[in-house]
Amino acid sequence: MALDYIPVLFYNSFIMTKPSIGTVEYEIEKAKETGQKRRLLLHACCGPCSTSVLDYLHDYFDITVYFYNPNILPKEEFIRRLEALKTVILHFSDVKLIVPEYNQEEYLPYVKGMENLPEGQSRCSICFDIRLGGTAAYFKAHENEFDFFATTLTVSPHKNHILINETGNRIAGKLGIKYLDSNFKKKDGYLKSCQLSKEWGIYRQDYCGCRFD
Ligand code: SF4
Repeated sequence: MALDYIPVLFYNSFIMTKPSIGTVEYEIEKAKETGQKRRLLLHACCGPCSTSVLDYLHDYFDITVYFYNPNILPKEEFIRRLEALKTVILHFSDVKLIVPEYNQEEYLPYVKGMENLPEGQSRCSICFDIRLGGTAAYFKAHENEFDFFATTLTVSPHKNHILINETGNRIAGKLGIKYLDSNFKKKDGYLKSCQLSKEWGIYRQDYCGCRFD
């Protein structure tokens, strides 16, 4: 009787641990097999979230960080978070950084009337659309420079990684480019981001970005 169950258990554990195509884990496994780093355009929301994500990815991808966050208010806070991100990147010699011009008008008009909604509702869905949309547009305009895009946003315990991944895939599908699903909270990713931020002296903000949350 027990013998009937052993292969099923092995089979189930194999199925559960094998990464799906289109995820960061799948590409990591491929990089381990081939020794080749694919080119990743990584949207970063801030320095603290980038710590553990870059630590997890940088051995397996050729990474360009894209700091596109017109949702961060006020501008002084945007600059403070950018400086924190630059300090994080100093810990990864081969990671590049691109910072498009900051413009609140690429965010504020789209969430007008939603200022009083709590975090996690439609204002945030629009915010993800804007930030991943801007990242995807950069990818599309430089299509031969990247293989995939992804975002550090999924490391936050306050963010819905399923919605973020749906958004990334929808935008990628429209533009004919590739998005990688992630849930960087896994394997204590968030905890590690807190530990690394503290260890490296990285400024950690106490609000998400728009000041409405
Ligand atoms: S709470 Fe955060 S994710 Fe939601 S709209 Fe504001 S900045 Fe964007």
